[in-house]
Amino acid sequence: MAAAKRVALLGPPGAGKGTVAKRIVERFGIVHLSTGDILRDEVARGTELGRAAKSTMDRGELVPDELIVDMIRGRIEAAESGFLLDGFPRTIAQAESLETISDLDAVISIDLPREDVVARLTARRVCVECGRIYNLTFRPPEDPSRCDVCGGTLIQRDDDKEDVIRNRYDVYQTSTSPLLEFYELRGLLRRVDGRSGTDEVFGRIVEILAG
Ligand code: AMP
Repeated sequence: MAAAKRVALLGPPGAGKGTVAKRIVERFGIVHLSTGDILRDEVARGTELGRAAKSTMDRGELVPDELIVDMIRGRIEAAESGFLLDGFPRTIAQAESLETISDLDAVISIDLPREDVVARLTARRVCVECGRIYNLTFRPPEDPSRCDVCGGTLIQRDDDKEDVIRNRYDVYQTSTSPLLEFYELRGLLRRVDGRSGTDEVFGRIVEILAG
């Protein structure tokens, strides 16, 4: 069978989607489409969309479906070599819209229990320059305030504070976890245990996609 090229990655915040996604897209030569990264860029640039989304994001809630679908549609259509969706779809309405834009070859859910999510995300740091992701407990940088690769400043995302993290997990359970059944019914869903290390999660996903 040909390698899967159109893939969606599901999983609660902190499951490791962003980290593993960067490796997957390199391995398969496909485009990484992270709605969270695109939104953070819009916020940083102070665009109309960024200004509309910021307070919702800071509370850990979901940006309205229409804004997200309008933002991602053209990028999916342009990704001719294939794509990895990271953080989209997040609601049944988004998944239904996606069906009108493109088929998928696989949907992978990285599963992680709530307490692991909180433990991971409170220790997560991101480089403001290159976007590299660290974890002060599991994947520490040499200097806790500087990126090992580019020397940029490491920061905690506004939505990685503990109360917001708990809210984001609850939002995931309520709004996004129904997608597991949605894609199971379509025969697309594959599940990976997010408690294993990044290398193991990456290896499992490569096996699934190359299968
Ligand atoms: P993430 O980096 O994927 O955790 O996304 C950060 C924040 O961006 C989320 O907590 C939401 O506020 C918003 N966001 C990202 N993707 C979506 C989406 N598909 N639907 C609605 N909101 C989203």
